[in-house]
Amino acid sequence: MALLDRAIARLLPAVPRPLVQRISARYIAGETVAEACRTVKALNDEGQMATIDVLGEEIASREETLEIVRAYHDVFEAIEREGLESNVSVKLTGLGLKLGYELCKANLQTVVRHAAESGNFVRIDMEDSSCTNDTLRLYRELRAEGLDNIGVVLQAYLRRTILDVRDLLPLGTNVRLCKGIYVESPTIAYTEHQAVRDSFVESLDELLRNGAYVGIATHDEWLIERALELVEKHGLSKEQYEFQMLLGVRPQLGDRLVRDGHRLRIYVPFGEHWYGYSLRRLQENPKIAGYIAADTVGRVLRRDGA
Ligand SMILES: Cc1cc2nc3c(=O)[nH]c(=O)nc-3n(C[C@H](O)[C@H](O)[C@H](O)COP(=O)(O)OP(=O)(O)OC[C@H]3O[C@@H](n4cnc5c(N)ncnc54)[C@H](O)[C@@H]3O)c2cc1C
Repeated sequence: MALLDRAIARLLPAVPRPLVQRISARYIAGETVAEACRTVKALNDEGQMATIDVLGEEIASREETLEIVRAYHDVFEAIEREGLESNVSVKLTGLGLKLGYELCKANLQTVVRHAAESGNFVRIDMEDSSCTNDTLRLYRELRAEGLDNIGVVLQAYLRRTILDVRDLLPLGTNVRLCKGIYVESPTIAYTEHQAVRDSFVESLDELLRNGAYVGIATHDEWLIERALELVEKHGLSKEQYEFQMLLGVRPQLGDRLVRDGHRLRIYVPFGEHWYGYSLRRLQENPKIAGYIAADTVGRVLRRDGA
């Protein structure tokens, strides 16, 4: 990332919300289920699958967690009604993980049972390292109860991840593998770019070799090439893995994967709690300075033209 972009990424929390909302619009499918479904339908028409995320990271009360549970219920109904090719992704803090383990577990059970009613699937996103143990524990507990329509996420930047891979393999697991987005201490996380990639490749190799279904979640062309080599090395068919990308990030790269016959799932977030998610996406955008400049210049031009 260029120096100016890095500096702006750090200053983003000080940028006014309306500006953040405008320049992050391409990463968010809107505020309503109907808007999310329209986005998913358009992706499905392009041969891409989706995973819908109800944004809800700033949750502070039990009632708010129940609203998120209800929102997922509406999402499952809409997916079924409209015949969409989409599952869902949930954040455990949105279901109350920081308010209480048992509250979160009950909410997650409800969401996973709603999903099962229409043959759908729930991916549990992985949040910062304060959530890792509880997230993996909840995943194991629900699987032990026979709730099999769930999968978890592992983050390649965590030093523990290869051990988590080995722990999860006996469950016959469905894992999304990503680099990891939260700021973590070097004592627990690789911080160097290539070290994170190497850890990703090592974990992916172990998962694919042992028959796990993996959602290979990255926009990094180097990693995608390594993943394709591993798929070939292990002789996997196209149904045994999928690529995953975020809405609005490197769509041409995704189109290329689909043209080459690979399964691709796009992460489609929607909802009123768009701010935290938008900040993370913008901070990862290597051309953030350009976007802010384009937005500002665009508005000046529009004002002058009016
Ligand atoms: C489907 C999906 C689900 C995810 N779920 C989780 C999760 O549960 N927990 C978690 O911690 N992280 C999650 N992530 C985020 C992930 O951990 C990374 O932070 C993110 O994907 C960026 O890493 P990268 O592998 O794409 O590589 P990078 O090296 O960051 O990016 C590769 C290239 O992609 C482009 N790019 C990346 N981001 C952007 C952007 N925002 N705008 C424009 N261009 C961009 C750039 O050109 C960059 O050079 C998820 C990612 C995906 C794709």
